[in-house]
Amino acid sequence: MRKKLLLGNWKMNKTVGEAKEFASQTAELVKFAKANKVLVGVAPTYLCLETVKKKAKGMIVAAQNCHFEDKGAFTGEVSIPMLKDLGIKWCIIGHSERRTYDNETNEKCNKKIAKLVANDMVPVYCVGETLEQYEANDTKKVVKTQVEEGLANLPVDSVKNIVVAYEPVWAIGTGKNASEAIAEDICGFIRKTIRKMYGAKAANKVLVLYGGSVKPENIKAYLSQPNVDGALVGGASLKIDSYEAMLHNLVK
Ligand code: PEP
Repeated sequence: MRKKLLLGNWKMNKTVGEAKEFASQTAELVKFAKANKVLVGVAPTYLCLETVKKKAKGMIVAAQNCHFEDKGAFTGEVSIPMLKDLGIKWCIIGHSERRTYDNETNEKCNKKIAKLVANDMVPVYCVGETLEQYEANDTKKVVKTQVEEGLANLPVDSVKNIVVAYEPVWAIGTGKNASEAIAEDICGFIRKTIRKMYGAKAANKVLVLYGGSVKPENIKAYLSQPNVDGALVGGASLKIDSYEAMLHNLVK
């Protein structure tokens, strides 16, 4: 059986001090998550990774991005060996904000994902359609291309460890969340696409998350869907109280 995963994406929020404060309040929730077989994690900025890793024992600590080269003349970038050196094993790839503002293409995502899995790390690959694409009924076409191109040519054995997050762009940070029926339909479609690419064994193990205005009040409805294995959460993951409330509500 697949585990449930609650992953907070802190984006460009929190100073090191603020991240430390959050991390130092996680012991109880980690205990609760373990007892209920839920994986919990957060993705702080690069600056806060080390602090959160040290303070939030038992939590997954993910980077929000990485470069596909190990080192070199790439000003402002951070490489996979640098993340590994801090004990970071998870990394978000292709978040829609990076696709929009940083020209993150499916091809670039694929290079990063290939490098991450070669390093036994876990990519959390984000896919999802814009409002325009949603209104044009193009969701499945867009998501299929993102999955096929972003997850192309990977070693079959590595695919089972990948996490995919379906995040409709129109639902991120807008308070306009997709219905649980849409989330289930597209998360199931992502699994089906992976099955066609890499077979049932891999597809049945891949965790598929929903993301987009998830909060304590609606998390349970998503997590009750058979193909939704967890949530990638922005705004509601920033405060320890609402993070904790999401965890408690999702296991209820
Ligand atoms: C996100 O950043 O991945 C996200 C889903 O944000 P929010 O929960 O704030 O919509």
